[in-house]
Amino acid sequence: MDRRKFILGSSAGLLATSSLMSLSAFGCSTKKTVKSGHLVLRFKPYELKLKHAFNLAKSSRTTTPDVQVELEYDGIVGYGEASMPPYLGESVESVTKFLSSLDLTQFTDPFRMEEILAYVDSVAPNNRAAKASIDIALHDLLGKIMGQPWYKIWGLSTEKIHPTSFTISNDTPEVVQQKIKESEQYKVLKVKMGVPGDKELVETIRKATDRPLCVDANQGWNSKEYALEMCHWLKEKGCIFVEQPLPKEMLDETAWLREQSPLPIIADEAFQRLPDVVRFKDVYDGINIKLMKSTGLHEAYKMAVLAKSLGMYVMLGCMTETSCGIAAAAQLSPMVDWTDLDGNVLIGNDRFEGLIFEDGKVIPADKPGLGVSIIKGLE
Ligand code: MG
Repeated sequence: MDRRKFILGSSAGLLATSSLMSLSAFGCSTKKTVKSGHLVLRFKPYELKLKHAFNLAKSSRTTTPDVQVELEYDGIVGYGEASMPPYLGESVESVTKFLSSLDLTQFTDPFRMEEILAYVDSVAPNNRAAKASIDIALHDLLGKIMGQPWYKIWGLSTEKIHPTSFTISNDTPEVVQQKIKESEQYKVLKVKMGVPGDKELVETIRKATDRPLCVDANQGWNSKEYALEMCHWLKEKGCIFVEQPLPKEMLDETAWLREQSPLPIIADEAFQRLPDVVRFKDVYDGINIKLMKSTGLHEAYKMAVLAKSLGMYVMLGCMTETSCGIAAAAQLSPMVDWTDLDGNVLIGNDRFEGLIFEDGKVIPADKPGLGVSIIKGLE
């Protein structure tokens, strides 16, 4: 798709001339550097097509709405995205409305990340995926200006990265077998439970493979006693932790479950922003950080540091996203205990390339920024 189809955010407002110059340079083999001295924001909707229907405890879908973002400064472009699974309450409409309301032209120094992101966060409450799209694009941009990937800027090393899990959602036994076959290169499987027949799903998987399992109940178990029974059963089945077993409002019941459970209990739907880390330290054993919840990498990094300092497990998850969002999360993955970064392989129309998959691990490329580039023809 042509960059001219990107919507110029109001951040481009007073910079019409320089923005148009950068737009006209797009697609040329030799791209002109436009010294605008300001941040220029562009964005466009991009629907993600899922390879298999995504069947969760409370919903099923075959596409995920997504908005692709570009943030340009002096001819260097950073990429970001907002992915909006419907249950999170954001949409293409809400994200484009939020992005249109931003005025980033007020920032002449892109390195003032604290100020820029504090401004973005202050414009309206919630809108976490929309905010993440700016944060991710800004990280890509700054990494490119500095000439380094973010894991190196943070002093991390890719040797510390754990294998990622691959999600198997509930389906017919034939489709489940097919998914297990497709996932042979993954060393850990993640099972979506909390739906009728979820024990049968685990039995079907166990007939095919003895790889370790993570379980995500997506709030689908409604009593602490049943959840505990399931945790014991899953321990016997080679499960290593359980994510969001009970509805997010059931904090007392979850704290009780955590005391009794033979498996670590991880917060996902209950956990959103940085203050939740401290709020949940005696309720959950760990947190699932996702950039679309955390408003991006800047806060996600702080979450990971804080949670580790409190002795909590840290898991790094994702939505269905292109390799742009996954590459952003992968920069943090040397810091975490468990990695669940398969969102890009669940879609059939990834727009980016450059992310490395090796020995069951998702590894960011040793290239500036997020280390990904747009696939030719999908500009
Ligand atoms: Mg989850």
